[in-house]
Amino acid sequence: MSSIFGAQAAARNDGQKAHQAAVTTSVEIASNLTLAIQREQDLAVSAGGFVIGNPNASLDQFQRWAGSTQVFERFPEIQGIAEVVMVPASQLSTFAAHVEDPSAGLNPSGQPFQVTPPGARPYYCFATLSQSRTSQPLTPVGTDLCDTVLGPGLMSTRDSGEGAYLPYGTGSSAEMVVGTPIYQGGVVPTTVQARQDAFIGWTGTEILPSMILADALRGQHGTEASVHYASGTESATFTAGAAPAGAQQSTIELHNGWSVQVYSLVGGSGVLGNPTVLAFLLGGILLSLLLALLVFVQGTSRSRAVLLVHERTDQLRHQALHDSLTGLPNRALILDRIGQMLARGRRQHTPVAVLFLDLDNFKDINDTLGHRAGDELLVGVGTRLGSALREGDTVGRLGGDEFVVLTEGASLASGAGIVADRILDVLSTPFEIADSDVPLAVTASIGCAEGDRSTPEELLQDADIALYQAKAAGKRRAVCFAPSMQKAVDDHRHLEVDLQGALLADQFFLEYQPTIDLSTGVFTGVEALIRWRRPERGVVQPDDFIPALESTGIIVPVGTWVLQEACRQGARWHEQGYRFTVSVNVSARQLERDRIIDDVHDALKTSGFDPGSLILELTETALMHDVEQTVTRLGLLKALGVRIAIDDFGTGYSSLAYLRQFPIDVLKIDRSFVSGISDTTESAALVHTLVQLGKVLGLETIAEGIETDDQRIRLADEQVDTGQGFLFARPLSVDDVDRLLGVPAGKSGASVTASSR
Ligand code: C2E
Ligand code: MG
Ligand code: MG
Repeated sequence: MSSIFGAQAAARNDGQKAHQAAVTTSVEIASNLTLAIQREQDLAVSAGGFVIGNPNASLDQFQRWAGSTQVFERFPEIQGIAEVVMVPASQLSTFAAHVEDPSAGLNPSGQPFQVTPPGARPYYCFATLSQSRTSQPLTPVGTDLCDTVLGPGLMSTRDSGEGAYLPYGTGSSAEMVVGTPIYQGGVVPTTVQARQDAFIGWTGTEILPSMILADALRGQHGTEASVHYASGTESATFTAGAAPAGAQQSTIELHNGWSVQVYSLVGGSGVLGNPTVLAFLLGGILLSLLLALLVFVQGTSRSRAVLLVHERTDQLRHQALHDSLTGLPNRALILDRIGQMLARGRRQHTPVAVLFLDLDNFKDINDTLGHRAGDELLVGVGTRLGSALREGDTVGRLGGDEFVVLTEGASLASGAGIVADRILDVLSTPFEIADSDVPLAVTASIGCAEGDRSTPEELLQDADIALYQAKAAGKRRAVCFAPSMQKAVDDHRHLEVDLQGALLADQFFLEYQPTIDLSTGVFTGVEALIRWRRPERGVVQPDDFIPALESTGIIVPVGTWVLQEACRQGARWHEQGYRFTVSVNVSARQLERDRIIDDVHDALKTSGFDPGSLILELTETALMHDVEQTVTRLGLLKALGVRIAIDDFGTGYSSLAYLRQFPIDVLKIDRSFVSGISDTTESAALVHTLVQLGKVLGLETIAEGIETDDQRIRLADEQVDTGQGFLFARPLSVDDVDRLLGVPAGKSGASVTASSR
């Protein structure tokens, strides 16, 4: 990375401040290059290892190795890879017979062996094993590579022990051959004589350097870079990027026959606006590239030593790039593969897509059946995903219950939505899990994103956004990304950011909605309901921010505050002589922790509020989360003297068997039943059943959301104890409650007076 620091220093010397964006871009370029070179180095080590470990390998075995190594998928710049041997004239006929022998598996086409160009020479260099991107033979059987422009370079690598980058012009596209000598035992002997004796051959890869350059310059608009090589009659130029008209040229001589030209527009400020600095920067980066290539070529002699431990290294590399539970590619490898997929898509104009999958009910499974069952399920899901895909598609695990599928080309002929549906389909059969008596049914949501992006992260992020939409739309479905979704995500992010500081900034406040005794019309208490005074947006209702508070976990400190505030206010009313109940809503996230017990205890203690007047409202789903823990915590809460209500009752499980295990005092019948009571006999019957259920269990019943007098009368007839709703009062400020406490409510006919209970 020294070139970047060098450029920054030059910018300072020129009295110009380096622009942060330019530096970031440069870091990207440099890291792209480093990555490409490291990967090629890995490949050379790996190919050499294959040849040394399999001296009699057939062409078929070599091609299978290349396939399993995913040479062409992983290295877009590589056009072909070959193992080349040197054959002295004295051994030519033996070698020819060996190649023609069908059992050696070196000449599947069965063409007779023929030296090309013909002629008697002291030695020949033949590719024995090879694989090309197009699957065409890299060179016809018998082609003497040492009689091509590569000859001198290859021979010098044999003696020096160091690899070389050799320009190799074929047709219009300038190519390079990277030749790396291989010696018996995998290490480079120390003397020239010993190197000649132990010499086996070369690993040769044909690469398009412009592709590495282009990849490295991605996102650098208005910049063109070309690397030029000239030596004797040989010359080659590799170019990447496109400079607009008026671009300035700067040339950097690297000697050894290499030079670098950079074309870019002058303008703006900072590194990119200063031609000297820019040339220095890009020259530096390209110089780093070439130096790194040289280091690579020289380093391959050192990497021979690595061969001895390469199996271990492979193992470590595998561990670094794969998820240990499922063995699937992890985030790092997935991002790398997305990068390669995008590059292929761009080159071959094929469609590409990322599918981001998240299980809908994984937390519940983990909570109820334990982590071992959860792990087993994740492995099962990984396997099923693999089975649903075509060869060439990739499945990875990002962590937790998040999986990613990469798919491209023919798989996408009918769109990514079809692939997503197929995945949802294979997951629909329940999973057999050791720790579960019954097969486990799971559902998943999928977000997909298709098409080109400038970075792998972007494509993954768009798929994540689509996943968020799929979850919001009710889960168990696939949604594909559309640009309009970005706004919803941005809004949500702003909401989360704003919520972070809301508690400290004192933006929350409580309103209190009265509850009324339905038989006497007497005021019995209030329910504390949170509100948020959001800067520049006004007062926000809880349905619009409680889900975000819960998903971020901020509900826990906010819930603590609500308890304290409600108890403080309740104690104040009690002091004034109005002894009524105060109900506080407690979310599932709060009930999940032991802290809730301390929170309630502290709120009561600090305020001095009567525990018997505090009602904690919990929803059925919150109770069902982890039944055993819930029963314990509710027991401890009850021991503090508070009462427990089930909120929104009737919308969850409503199973009597379950309810009986919780120490509950109050049933709050959900608004949806109340609103239908006047209109449908079903609702009326349901309310009747729920009230009877409450009575059987010895519970107080409250009906929520009473809006009409007719509803009030019917609920009173059903002997519902208490009512709450707009008919009596909306959620009110403390001042309004104070005012109401002294004023009889005329509208409903129910008289509201403070009751002393
Ligand atoms: P909830 O606990 O069921 O509260 C009753 C909701 O019904 C309140 O909505 C109330 O304004 C509304 N409501 C009452 N009477 C009527 C009526 O006659 N007609 C209609 N249409 N609505 C009525 P709000 O204040 O918007 O609160 C919504 C939900 O937000 C609450 O439902 C509760 O689940 C949650 N929530 C409110 N405050 C807190 C809090 O401090 N902590 C937690 N965890 N949740 C809270
Ligand atoms: Mg409530
Ligand atoms: Mg409710």
